[in-house]
Amino acid sequence: MATKSNGSLPPFKIPEIEFTKLFINGEFVDAVSGKTFETIDPRNGEVVAKVAEGDKEDVDLAVKAAREAFDHGPWPRMSGHARGRLMIKYAELVEEHAEILAALDTLDAGKLFSMGKTMDIPSGASNLRYYAGAADKIHGETLKMSRELHGYTLREPIGVVGHIIPWNFPTAMYFMKVGPSLAAGCTMVVKPAEQTPLSALYYAHLSKLAGIPDGVINVVTGFGPTAGAAIASHMDIDKVSFTGSTEVGRLIMQAAAMSNLKQVSLELGGKSPVIIFDDADVDVAANLALLGIVYNKGEICVSGSRVFVQEGIHDAVVLKLAEKAKNWVVGDPFDDNSQQGPQVDKKQFEKILSYIEQGKREGANLLCGGSRHGDKGYFIQPTIFTEVQDDMVIAKEEIFGPVMSLMKFKTIEEAIERANSTKYGLAAGIVTKNIDIANTVSRSLRAGVVWINCYFAFDVDCPYGGYKMSGFGRDLGMEALYKYTNVKSVVTPLYNSPW
Ligand code: ADP
Repeated sequence: MATKSNGSLPPFKIPEIEFTKLFINGEFVDAVSGKTFETIDPRNGEVVAKVAEGDKEDVDLAVKAAREAFDHGPWPRMSGHARGRLMIKYAELVEEHAEILAALDTLDAGKLFSMGKTMDIPSGASNLRYYAGAADKIHGETLKMSRELHGYTLREPIGVVGHIIPWNFPTAMYFMKVGPSLAAGCTMVVKPAEQTPLSALYYAHLSKLAGIPDGVINVVTGFGPTAGAAIASHMDIDKVSFTGSTEVGRLIMQAAAMSNLKQVSLELGGKSPVIIFDDADVDVAANLALLGIVYNKGEICVSGSRVFVQEGIHDAVVLKLAEKAKNWVVGDPFDDNSQQGPQVDKKQFEKILSYIEQGKREGANLLCGGSRHGDKGYFIQPTIFTEVQDDMVIAKEEIFGPVMSLMKFKTIEEAIERANSTKYGLAAGIVTKNIDIANTVSRSLRAGVVWINCYFAFDVDCPYGGYKMSGFGRDLGMEALYKYTNVKSVVTPLYNSPW
């Protein structure tokens, strides 16, 4: 495998970490307990910064600020146009600070710095602009009532929102949640993942510079079972929007049900199929399949972790995949030549390696990879298992790392049946030149997004979310905007009607 040394010189000077405290009501403050926790650089296991460890009392303060800003502050009362203008200013500031923000995500999550600078951060700004443009177009409908009544609906902001976000895309997740809820006129408490708190704190700082009023965006850094759980069970939060594991999604829903029945949307795990048909171009198919599993080191809930290849093209695809995986460059995420950085932390690193060992024990054929890369940090080789059986653990459970399970199939019907036989339903990929196959299979797959001859084709206008145990509710697109609103019906009798 071609590799770059993990110790190669970063092309960008690693920044001083400026913001490490909670952001509540427009101010950076220590946690009430005074406690902090360490965030770790996954390139080498060293401490990057000590960050305030928020808990229930801090969440209470943040919710109080958000509630005050919602009930009495200007944000929900401003015109959508005025909110949109401030959001555009926010987007400009995000773009201006792209380098430092990308560096923070690299230090926290091991994400490729080049990708952060050119994709994650600019697309965060695009997300803000998209929803800024939508902020003055949120309206209800005039109803065609069946009696002598005049009726219409209003779409109102849902209130105070709790956003609990994961560590794999700290920037994209922040804006996927914050963008539409800001546009809708909500106020919010954001809890970034404990592994990746730094960029969210920087985004909080930029929101203040942009002129977003105090109390609208609050950021509480801390752990899931403490700060996260306090959000899920808070009596004064109107909605919780969560992205993370299916196990924690279940806890969030339970806490919402047992507290104030707040609305919930969940974007959870996946075990997404990529189906390659006999007529596909071998090179295109191998590229898509490899990208589907190594992009962001496999730390993406829509990763194409189950690859089904039709028997006629199977051997050619396997050969090509092996060749491409060998040339995949694992290395320092600050180095522009690297294509894959380290896994986010020791826990994920060990979990992925134990799945790899399980695959070996279960008798799958290890085509390439199969162990850590280097001897420092949490780097893992792109790993491909072939001859995988549907009932093997590696084919069923979400590994959340660069580990592919490749399987052979004969007929279209068989591919659909096997692709759907999972508890998850987040994404799917199809590789074929045959339009009839593409249309038939895409309709038959139970997944929130189907990519035909592409993969990870995200767009801010394209709703994103799951079927089955991958959750419910949609991020992105206008769908996301609507989930942060409530619909109110207003009815009045027409003149001379009998009331
Ligand atoms: P992963 O397993 O991929 O680390 P998690 O689902 O554990 O993902 O974490 C996603 C987010 O959920 C993080 O911000 C984490 O702190 C939070 N979280 C974890 N446990 C809980 C919990 N019991 N209640 C609320 N939030 C939680």
